[in-house]
Amino acid sequence: MNLPCPTCSANELRATTLTEGLPAQSCPECRGAVLPLIAYRDWRNAHAAPDEAIVDAGDASSAAADDSKAMLHCPQCKGFMTKFRFSADTANHIDHCDRCDLVWLDHGEWRLVEQLARSGQLAKIFDAVWQKRLREEQAKRRAEARWREQLGEDFAKAKELRGWLTTHPKGKELLAYLFLSQTEGA
Ligand SMILES: [Zn+2]
Ligand SMILES: [Zn+2]
Repeated sequence: MNLPCPTCSANELRATTLTEGLPAQSCPECRGAVLPLIAYRDWRNAHAAPDEAIVDAGDASSAAADDSKAMLHCPQCKGFMTKFRFSADTANHIDHCDRCDLVWLDHGEWRLVEQLARSGQLAKIFDAVWQKRLREEQAKRRAEARWREQLGEDFAKAKELRGWLTTHPKGKELLAYLFLSQTEGA
């Protein structure tokens, strides 16, 4: 029996492939897909490229991908799925069922995670380590956005100066000199 679509539950999922050799089940209407992570791991093992360093999952065209906002029920166990962001570069979430070890990819989301999947990292998104790193990256970007707003057109120059100071062997001394110029008027 086919599983029901978690977003448009009137429809049944049909067997498909996300890419060559990677079986999944997709909805003919919303075109989202259920991917069992066991199938993903098998596919990864069969296409064994070495694990790569963490790649930037960013994709400027993420606007083309759907992202279901509602909490979804797992099509298999009917329990709630958990939403996980996978990159600071896209607001999309992947829905994951921990009990069944499967994910729901809205239409277009496979393309967003394909690079992560090919480098062996799709199943790592749901780890605490990945999520912590992602939250840190998001916090960094929020802080940068605040500075950008505050400094206006000088932000780019300030960022360049900051980069130069942080890598300079006498960065601390240079910073002290600049700081003192404010208080001593030197
Ligand atoms: Zn659907
Ligand atoms: Zn489930």
